Amino acid sequence: MTPDVSLRPYNTFGVEARAAYFAEFASVAELRTALRQAVPPVLVLGGGSNILFTRDWPGTVLRNRICGIEVVRRFPHRVWVRAGGGEDWHELVMWAVRQNFGGIENLSLIPGSVGAAPVQNIGAYGVELKDVFISLEAVELATGRLRRFTRQECRFGYRDSIFKQQEKGRWCITAVTLSLTTDRHRLNTSYGDVARTLADMGVGNPTPAHISEAVVRIRQAKLPDPAHMGNCGSFFKNPEVRQEVWENIRQRYPNAPHYPLPNGHIKVPAGWLIEQCGWKGRRVGNVGCYEKQALVLVNHGGATGQEAHALAQAIAASVAAQFGIALEPEVNVW
Ligand SMILES: Cc1cc2nc3c(=O)[nH]c(=O)nc-3n(C[C@H](O)[C@H](O)[C@H](O)COP(=O)(O)OP(=O)(O)OC[C@H]3O[C@@H](n4cnc5c(N)ncnc54)[C@H](O)[C@@H]3O)c2cc1C
Repeated sequence: MTPDVSLRPYNTFGVEARAAYFAEFASVAELRTALRQAVPPVLVLGGGSNILFTRDWPGTVLRNRICGIEVVRRFPHRVWVRAGGGEDWHELVMWAVRQNFGGIENLSLIPGSVGAAPVQNIGAYGVELKDVFISLEAVELATGRLRRFTRQECRFGYRDSIFKQQEKGRWCITAVTLSLTTDRHRLNTSYGDVARTLADMGVGNPTPAHISEAVVRIRQAKLPDPAHMGNCGSFFKNPEVRQEVWENIRQRYPNAPHYPLPNGHIKVPAGWLIEQCGWKGRRVGNVGCYEKQALVLVNHGGATGQEAHALAQAIAASVAAQFGIALEPEVNVW
């Protein structure tokens, strides 16, 4: 357990904050030892790509380094793959693509750890983690007890799970098991620019590897790389609004992008709302709204977490004033 550690290298927004105590663990046994020594409160950290520190962490930060990827069951057309919570998510996707396993190729290049993926049910290009999820193993922080959670028990929703709700901050996810196809892949090319990019690549009959490559190309062209410009990806969730709220927007903006949902609500892209409020590409001090995607807040260098949070609040206030919609952060703000 190391006292007074800078968390700047451990968050992709690249802001300074200090952990009163910090330790890494590479097995369940090491995690249990760390939990016995930890000064509360305990924060489990993966890649730090979905957290904004606006202040120091007063207790212990435990960084997940549990590795390992293995096929644990084989079926005629699919396999179950179990990965350690400290594995890098994109490396797991690359491993799957190399075996020609299908199911997570649309989730290529999402930063962060495997253990954090269920926390917000990561999703991109028409696929969510829950679509391939079998179960996870997690250690209860208060007791060290290891427990398995099924898909139903995780209560996955849009960028949501039980680990962001009633069980928030109570568990460390140590392993995740996914079901991947070995042939007869059900590929999803319908979302965003995937089909167009595959056509540009000259691919007519795509494999999971082709889709992964297309997604990587799209993401590299659209999103800032945290290694060069600090960010946490999408800062806000796309709001789901009632029909009457949508009608109000449609009357003023007949071409507004929108996606009708099965529950009768309408999903409106938060990036579009933010752009209409004039924030896209705008810089305030050391932070700003990314020039190619208004939903991404960026660190232009030397930003503090408070600065980024103040910008997020100003953006949310202007969207509320102009559209009557309350944006909800996707990022965990501490
Ligand atoms: C450039 C960029 C693009 C992104 N694109 C997407 C995208 O397309 N789709 C998407 O869904 N997300 C996206 N994200 C967000 C982020 O990558 C995901 O949320 C990712 O799963 C976070 O993983 P992490 O290990 O970095 O989590 P961290 O930031 O370390 O932690 C996030 C939260 O999960 C908790 N947590 C972390 N590990 C564990 C664990 N093992 N057990 C229990 N709790 C844990 C933490 O306490 C914290 O509350 C993007 C981020 C960036 C920077």
